[in-house]
Amino acid sequence: MIYIGSHLSSAGGFMAMGKHAKKLGANTFAFFTRNPRGGAAKEIDPADAMAFMKFHKEEGMGPLVAHAPYTMNLCSAKEDVRAFGKEMLSDDLKRMEYTPGNYYNFHPGSATGQDTDVAILQIADALNDCMFEGMHTTVLLETMAGKGSEIGGNFKELSSIINHIELKNRIGVCFDTCHVWDGGYDIVNHLDEVLDEFDKTIGLDRLYAVHINDSKNPCDSHKDRHEKIGEGYLGTKALEAIVTHPVFQGKPFILETPNEDEGYAKEIALIKQWL
Ligand code: FE
Ligand code: FE
Ligand code: ZN
Repeated sequence: MIYIGSHLSSAGGFMAMGKHAKKLGANTFAFFTRNPRGGAAKEIDPADAMAFMKFHKEEGMGPLVAHAPYTMNLCSAKEDVRAFGKEMLSDDLKRMEYTPGNYYNFHPGSATGQDTDVAILQIADALNDCMFEGMHTTVLLETMAGKGSEIGGNFKELSSIINHIELKNRIGVCFDTCHVWDGGYDIVNHLDEVLDEFDKTIGLDRLYAVHINDSKNPCDSHKDRHEKIGEGYLGTKALEAIVTHPVFQGKPFILETPNEDEGYAKEIALIKQWL
């Protein structure tokens, strides 16, 4: 068993997203915590959040995988960009407490010319400053395609960040199939070897969620262009092997494929057939 859903608009609040997800046949979903390309956040309505949490439980939904804005770069060479990122991170983690028990996924960042080691420490420091004792959210580092100066294009970098995190029970990884493939891990022909490497480097107990996307590009391309399920280089067979792999059971799977509602509903139905 896995949970499956797609990325949804958060414009109407939590209850609207819950109903939207149900309409698509989903039992989890992702949403941006604030404007993904800006930073402005809509105020959370506590009554909406509470009603949704009841709905979430009644419907037997899995953990949600919230997504931080793309403008959040905790390891930019520019200090003001780092500070802005930290402000958003801190605020988002407080806001996530309205819907306790869910996941907060973010792109570790782009080093923009700084040494990788420096960038890794900046990310870890920001997390340690913003995460707090008693928090109910698990923060997830997303595996990245390694585009440009992106941190997290390999398992080693993610593991280095995690090693520096103080609240170890609140940190994990979100496995993006398109990114991992683009990053150079051949999950089509060598899934078990890749998962073994993940286990040895990061630990499979840190694997909390999956972004299930096909890729427009070949393995090791470092491009990060998502494709619809079955229409890219990963293909249906490899994605089915991931969905049904024992390592991923019980996890929320989020579609970030280039689709509107109809396409998402179809992909959700297709993936449910594999289970
Ligand atoms: Fe992402
Ligand atoms: Fe992703
Ligand atoms: Zn991507």
